[in-house]
Amino acid sequence: MLNWSLISPHSQLPLIHVVNEDDELLSNNCDTQWYSILKNFPWENYRELGASYYNALYDFNISKQLKAEDSKKNKETKDAGRQRLLFNRTTMDKSKTVLHEMKPKQIAVPLVSAQSVSPGVVPKRLGGKKPKCFFALFKSFTGACLMGFAPEPEVVHNLLTSNLSFARVCGFVPNNIDERYWYRNIPSLRKIEQFDQIMTEYGLWNQNKWEEVRRNIEQGIIKKENELVGDTTHYHAYSGFETVAYTDPKGKEKKKSQSKVTKNCRCENKENCPHPWDLADDGAGTIVKSNGKMIWGHKASVLGLPRQGIALDATAVADAATFDGETLLPHVEVLFENLPEVKPWIDRILYDSACDNGKLRNTFKDRFGIELKASFNPRRTKPVTENLPPGMAKITASGNLICNGGFEMDYKGARFDFDKFIYQAPFDANKVSVCSGCLHQLSCSPTSTKGRVVTISFDMLPSIDPADPPMAKRFKAIMMRRPSVERMIKRLKRDLSDDRLRKRGNDSFQAYLDKTLIAYHMLLRS
Ligand SMILES: [Zn+2]
Repeated sequence: MLNWSLISPHSQLPLIHVVNEDDELLSNNCDTQWYSILKNFPWENYRELGASYYNALYDFNISKQLKAEDSKKNKETKDAGRQRLLFNRTTMDKSKTVLHEMKPKQIAVPLVSAQSVSPGVVPKRLGGKKPKCFFALFKSFTGACLMGFAPEPEVVHNLLTSNLSFARVCGFVPNNIDERYWYRNIPSLRKIEQFDQIMTEYGLWNQNKWEEVRRNIEQGIIKKENELVGDTTHYHAYSGFETVAYTDPKGKEKKKSQSKVTKNCRCENKENCPHPWDLADDGAGTIVKSNGKMIWGHKASVLGLPRQGIALDATAVADAATFDGETLLPHVEVLFENLPEVKPWIDRILYDSACDNGKLRNTFKDRFGIELKASFNPRRTKPVTENLPPGMAKITASGNLICNGGFEMDYKGARFDFDKFIYQAPFDANKVSVCSGCLHQLSCSPTSTKGRVVTISFDMLPSIDPADPPMAKRFKAIMMRRPSVERMIKRLKRDLSDDRLRKRGNDSFQAYLDKTLIAYHMLLRS
C-alpha cells in the first residue's frame, strides 16, 4: 500500500503506483528486518538532523572555496615532523586527553529549517543542482549496518547499485540509461563519500548517536539499571606503521611503533611544500592482547548496561597504545555528560582486572559515589603452598583454597576480630560433606562430623582486600555479569559491521562507531 502520510504536500503525487513484487516479498519476510525498519522509518524524528545536514552542506561548499588561501611557510623536515607527532601522542604526553575528542565544524549561517525538509523534498536555496535527499542517504548508511555490512561509502554505493529494493526503500529512484543528473537518482560514489565526510566533520553522526540512545530511554526500551559495565576492544587499522627511535626525558634510546607521516595536501613536492606533516592514521597504535599477540589497530572503549546487555556508547581512544585501565574514568565522564539522565541510576561499575586499582576505586567513590568492581588481578602472585593448616595443599592468588584431597574449599566469610578468612569443605550432591570417605580424613579432620573447617590469616593473602575478597560468593555473583560486555562488543563489531577498518584517522573511526551504534539502537526499537 502506498503510505499517503509520507508524501509531502509540496511534492507531485505519483500518477501510477508501481508495485514491485520483490519489495512486497521483503516486507513480508521476518528475516529481512532491515527492510521493515527502513520502510517504516520515522522520518519526522530526523528533520532537525536533516536541516543541520543541508546547512552543513552549504557551509562545506563555501569553505571549500576559501581553503586554497590558508598556507603559511613551514620549513619542518619529515623527521622533525615524525618526532613532533610522536611526543604529541597521549602515551607520550600525559597531559593529553585519553579519549579522542571530535572538534565538529560549526555552521556559520543556518538557512534551512527543519519544517522545510522531508523525504524527497530538498531545500532549493543551496544554489546550483538540487542536492541528494538527506533521508535517503541517511537510510542507506544505517541500512548497510542493519544488513551487517560496514557503513562506509563504497559498501553503501555497492548496495544501492546492486540491490534495487534497497535503493527504493531508502528513497532513491534507480538510474536510467539517461546519464543526466537528477537529484532522486542513486548518487555517485563521490557524493556518498561527501555525505559521510560532512556528517563526520560537522559532528552529526555523533550528535545523532546520543539522540538514538536518549530516544530508547524515553520510550522505555532501555530500562533503569544500577550497574554499568565497560571494556575496550580493537579494530584492525587500514594503515601501516614505522618504528620511530627517540630519546626519552632520561636520555635513554627507545623505540615506538607509529603511523607513517604524510601531508594532507595534493602538492607534488611534499618534502618542500609549506603544509605541515601529519600522521597518516592518527589514533592507530600497537595493542598488546593478553596472549602477547600484537595488533596494529584502533581502540574503542565500550560502556553498557550488563543486565539488559545493551551498549550505551563506544568511543575512540585517542592513542590505541593507551593502557585499558586509563580509559574507563574519562569515558564514564563523557557518558554522564551526554546522558545525564543515566547518572543517578548507577551505583556500581564492573570492569576487568585492568581497573583493579585502589586509587581509581577511590576516585569513582569520591567523584560519583560509584563502587568500581574490577576482576581481581593476581599480579603474577604465586599460589601459597607453605605454612598451610594440616590437610591443605595450596591457596591460589585469588584466595581459592585447595585441600590434599583435591577439593576446593567453600569460602564462608571473614572474622575481623581474629583477622582470618574461614573456609569449609564442600558438600557433595547428596548434601554429605566430601570429607566422609576421603582418603585424607584421618590426617586432616578425624573428629569433624560436618567437614573440615579451616581459617587462614589475612597476612597470608596480603593482596586481597578482606572487606571485598574475590573468593566470596557475592563478588563472584556480581562479576558473573561482566562478560555481557563481550556480547555487546560482538554485536557491534561482527553482527552490525566489520572489525577491519577501511578508513584512516580517529575522526573516521569515531564516525564508524557512531554509525554502528545508530543502527544498533534502531534495531533495539524494532
Ligand atoms: Zn603541500
